[in-house]
Amino acid sequence: MVMSVEHSQAPATQNSEGNARHSPALKRRCPSFFISLLHRLLGPPTKFNVLRSWIRQIIWFNLLTVLTTPLLSLYGVLTTTSNSNTIFFSIAYYILNMIGVTAGKFAQGLISYTASKPLELFLAVVGAGSVQGSIKWWCRHHRAHHRYTDTHLDPYGGHHGFWWSHIGWMLVESKAKPGQVEIDDLKRNPIVAWQHRWFFHLAAVFGLLLPAAIPGCLWGDWRGGLFFAGLLRLTCVHHSIFCVNSLAHWLGEASFDDKLTPRDHFFTALVTLGEGYHNFHHQFPMDYRNAVKWYQWDPTKWFIACCEILGLASHLQRSPDGEIRKSQFTMQVKQLKEVQDDISWPLTSDELPVIEWSDFQEQSEKRPLILVAGFIHDVEDFAGRHPGGEKLVRKYVGKDATTAFVGGVYDHSNAARNSDLGKLALLDWVSSTRRHRKLELRGRLSMALSKDK
Ligand SMILES: [Zn+2]
Ligand SMILES: [Zn+2]
Repeated sequence: MVMSVEHSQAPATQNSEGNARHSPALKRRCPSFFISLLHRLLGPPTKFNVLRSWIRQIIWFNLLTVLTTPLLSLYGVLTTTSNSNTIFFSIAYYILNMIGVTAGKFAQGLISYTASKPLELFLAVVGAGSVQGSIKWWCRHHRAHHRYTDTHLDPYGGHHGFWWSHIGWMLVESKAKPGQVEIDDLKRNPIVAWQHRWFFHLAAVFGLLLPAAIPGCLWGDWRGGLFFAGLLRLTCVHHSIFCVNSLAHWLGEASFDDKLTPRDHFFTALVTLGEGYHNFHHQFPMDYRNAVKWYQWDPTKWFIACCEILGLASHLQRSPDGEIRKSQFTMQVKQLKEVQDDISWPLTSDELPVIEWSDFQEQSEKRPLILVAGFIHDVEDFAGRHPGGEKLVRKYVGKDATTAFVGGVYDHSNAARNSDLGKLALLDWVSSTRRHRKLELRGRLSMALSKDK
């Protein structure tokens, strides 16, 4: 990001006494009283140049718009008696503006469905009422955002932090321009071209004049119309849409991919008319849905589906269920792996010394050792706490208790099977069995011989 200062600074130099002074170029560029005053207040030229550079990068029209609308709204709310009709109309008009942006984005920006001309026109008009820039401007940035997500070519990259992606990117000139994207289809679209050409007129009419005039003309609430339906509604629309760039890249889960910042969260969906399932949206941008599950809050998806039923929209793009589940499964496995890595699992055979049966027998006479599934445990600390009684455990000292452990006496649970209690060593079954077999054969032979005698 981008509040870079290098390009706009005039060089500061030192005089022979070591005091900082400005070059003639800088002096020429800051004639105003305001800048001179800041210079005096801030002292060292370096600090001054940084601030001066920041001031020069501010886009004053945008800054004044996003500052004045909430301040005037606040004044209006504190000084105007609310009218229920106006409040209801303000909410309805807010939803219309939001739909204009969110459903319009899928139609024009991502071509997730085909909108009929009446629907296109409707979205272009109510979308202009949100005062968020023309369709052409908005979709050009939106396509760059998808193509270059979280890079310096992303116009509102979430990797720069919440405030930059929420509002900062609109308030200061950025050295990095949005990455190149294809917008020929937008240029060819007559409604998009018309909306772009007349955007400021449309924004003035549908963003402020009409919502203020409707309550005034219909039920005489001109003041409420201006402050509630006009300015307060506009402030809410602005920040709701800004949240798609900020909150949706900051709050929630990476349900489908965690390489980039987009996240899924119900709260974000609530304040953005469904755009909160943003991780899915970035993974499957061609899909007209933000929320893939029927019960997830996504009024934009429901609006587009209703338009399809009414014949106003067609060719709705839905990503294959198998592809969606694959991405989801990949993330679930990754999350399970993180849980697995966080658990201290029982020692494996590679981590333990290997001893023979005879050593096991010899050691068992000095301490209470039992054998379970090839592992030798010292049960001294545990025997007294054994739920089945100490006597039962001590009965198997120096013996193989595997059969009793896995069901011969009691089929132990996962908790017992995963336990590492007193685990000391692994029994060398191969040599022990071979030796045991030899001893057994030798015993049988001597028995046979003694019988013959
Ligand atoms: Zn998007
Ligand atoms: Zn995004």
